[in-house]
Amino acid sequence: MAEREIPLYDDLEKGPWPSYIKEIKRMAERNPAAKDLLGVQELCFKEKITHWKHGGIVGVTGYGGGVIGRYSDAPEKFPNVASFHTMRVNHPAGWFYTTKALRKLCDVWEKYGSGLTNFHGSTGDIILLGTTTANLQTCFDALIEIGFDLGGSGGDIRTPTACIGPARCEYACIDAPDIIHDLTMEFQDEIHRPRFPYKFKIKASGCANDCVAAIARADFTIIGTWKDSLRIDQNAVSEYAKDGFDIKTVVVDKCPTDALDWDGKELKLKPEDCVRCMHCINKMPKALRPGLDQGATILIGGKAPVIMGAYLSWVLVPFMKMEPPYTEVKELLRKILDWWDENGRVRERVAELIERIGLRRFLRAMGIKPVPQMVYAPRTNPFVFFD
Ligand code: SF4
Ligand code: SF4
Repeated sequence: MAEREIPLYDDLEKGPWPSYIKEIKRMAERNPAAKDLLGVQELCFKEKITHWKHGGIVGVTGYGGGVIGRYSDAPEKFPNVASFHTMRVNHPAGWFYTTKALRKLCDVWEKYGSGLTNFHGSTGDIILLGTTTANLQTCFDALIEIGFDLGGSGGDIRTPTACIGPARCEYACIDAPDIIHDLTMEFQDEIHRPRFPYKFKIKASGCANDCVAAIARADFTIIGTWKDSLRIDQNAVSEYAKDGFDIKTVVVDKCPTDALDWDGKELKLKPEDCVRCMHCINKMPKALRPGLDQGATILIGGKAPVIMGAYLSWVLVPFMKMEPPYTEVKELLRKILDWWDENGRVRERVAELIERIGLRRFLRAMGIKPVPQMVYAPRTNPFVFFD
């Protein structure tokens, strides 16, 4: 293939960080679509406008989501990216792969697509970047053959995501990957066939460290926690102190609710004040552990800005036991989806709907009683009204 002049793209490759340009160039040596991608991107940089456009709905048989249609508006110059659709592939919960599975996936993608991937997209999916309309169905069939499936896109449940949970993390209070795998299986229809006002994301973190940033990114957030008191091994605490670790400054003074006290000999906890933020456990993992009565806090409404700005999700159910077959959480999810589907406007996320018509109506529809944990922010006026 003849070399293309791409000085602006070349410039981006410089600097201390690993560059995606290098990877595209590598693939361009053997894949014409990757080569034309370099050309079209260079043109975008040069003219300071995009040369990508949406061109209608594309998909595979039986599915409404999982493929994002992408076309170049300069097909005569770059025929190999005239259509360059993205396929979102449902990742395994917790992102565990065998190398064998990864190799098979890459083989399929090199055969039917650009060979370029993004592990992982911000929702969590495996992103396969760029295939033609003609190749979509065969590529999908080949993916199914090796045990992968498409994820969500558009107005559907997006591919649910979990942290690695107890598989590798001692902090996990719930089996986040198992919950997410189960919910993914349960909501297959809602993931593959968009019918909702807009996207709906489900994410589960095993503890309040929230490694999948569920609180900021998921409409339905599951965070592992405990109900009893966190566990303290006083001997291990003494070891930390003996090693010169400054328990007061690093741990006690940083507890957000002043729930800890250190007298130089014993670390005391006021369990009723602890909000289970994980800070002290993160700092002294050998001495402190989550409590034993474990479950999850369910939160609602996290989202990035589109209509009404960014929201962090807020507490809906302070504590729910999380054991297979996860009936309670599934029933709650179905109720929320039905209510949102019934009342939501086009492109209105569930948080925006709740904001528009009121938490009171939402809670009434869910059959959930208001509790203090649901307070999103302290009130700013001193007047209290009672019905
Ligand atoms: Fe571990 Fe908690 Fe992070 Fe999950 S969220 S990986 S349980 S620290
Ligand atoms: Fe304080 Fe957080 Fe530790 Fe609870 S978990 S005692 S709130 S630092």
